[in-house]
Amino acid sequence: MQTQLTDVINATPERDELLGILRACVHCGFCNAACPTYLEQGNELDGPRGRIYLMKQALEGQTVTRTTQQHLDHCLTCRACETACPSGVQYGRLLDISRPIIDGQVGRKLPERLLRGLITRIFPYRRRFSALLAVARLVKPLLPAPLKQKIPPKPAELAWPKATHSRKMLVLSGCVQATLAPQIDAASARVLDKLGIALLPVGGSGCCGALHYHLADHPHALAMARKNIDACQPYIEQGAEAIVMTASACGVMAKDYGTLLHADPHYAEKARRFSALTKDLSEVLMQEDLRVFSADHRKIAFQAPCTLQHGQRLSGVVETLLQTIGYQLVTVADGHLCCGSAGVYSLLQTDMAARLRDNKLQALEAGQADIIATANIGCLSHLQSASKQKVVHWIELLHD
Ligand code: SF4
Ligand code: SF4
Repeated sequence: MQTQLTDVINATPERDELLGILRACVHCGFCNAACPTYLEQGNELDGPRGRIYLMKQALEGQTVTRTTQQHLDHCLTCRACETACPSGVQYGRLLDISRPIIDGQVGRKLPERLLRGLITRIFPYRRRFSALLAVARLVKPLLPAPLKQKIPPKPAELAWPKATHSRKMLVLSGCVQATLAPQIDAASARVLDKLGIALLPVGGSGCCGALHYHLADHPHALAMARKNIDACQPYIEQGAEAIVMTASACGVMAKDYGTLLHADPHYAEKARRFSALTKDLSEVLMQEDLRVFSADHRKIAFQAPCTLQHGQRLSGVVETLLQTIGYQLVTVADGHLCCGSAGVYSLLQTDMAARLRDNKLQALEAGQADIIATANIGCLSHLQSASKQKVVHWIELLHD
């Protein structure tokens, strides 16, 4: 694709990357068939090819309108289009770079700014989010049904094992998952304990930064990345084997630290090492002896989060792992399509998120499984808000 970036864009460190991405797209449109919003809307500008065109226009200096911004807002950043693209176009990276540029030109109305501001000031911070959740649980009986659905009950507490093994791995303190479903990290620690690995929560770490990053607040996101790198560094120097990600969305972000901080002279090398050590929980377990686990009678419908299959390219890993242990998995149609959670998309684009969730639940429930399992807290909460069946993180099937 012939491309003439503006002088301002040409002067940024992303210039070559942007040119490479835009020139790789040959307009074939294969990606549209994999795009959930295109399939729902049937509108070229709500599909990847159309959005790439809109972003190209913006980066070339053509007038950007609110309509352009809205078509990009409708995008889930699920990256199914990347998996489908035969030319290897890095759509997600293009969107991440273009969003702040377009937001800077178009701006946002006050209600949108308030909602986004509330999300970025509360959700990534454990204490603030815990306080909000406590209040929400208190007033839950008084709330209208759609809001009520979004507030999960308090989960049963699960004890962490004592960290007694010489093999050590790290887990970030996190934010939303650690508050909504702390049993997921505890279950991960118990499973790893059974394998002779101590999982250490890293004091001073926190949110991975994905939430800020996808809402176009890159400076805050990178500050969170640096904080996590600093918190983990002493453990890495003492020989921690891996930084384990128990939420696949956080895994995508942490694996990207190396790329996002490559131009930072103080953090480039540390960020590269951090990303190299970052592993999804399923990657860790696949390297271990799974014979210590055994399956029960339950039939599982597994929902593969986009951040696992498209973001981290770990398609089929959890499924293989569960089948190796002896679980029976039912077939789930259209497994490549997003469930509509997509970070905070379900709070910002409520109609589309609900449509995609209902489609996904229909596909998951068709095989008459006993339970739905997933690998990301966002998908788990979004699906659970409308599911008749229990939805769990797959690691919860393994611990005892
Ligand atoms: S992103 Fe890939 S699949 Fe989509 S139009 Fe461009 S080259 Fe074709
Ligand atoms: S990231 Fe997902 S929603 Fe966005 S264009 Fe690609 S396939 Fe469509």
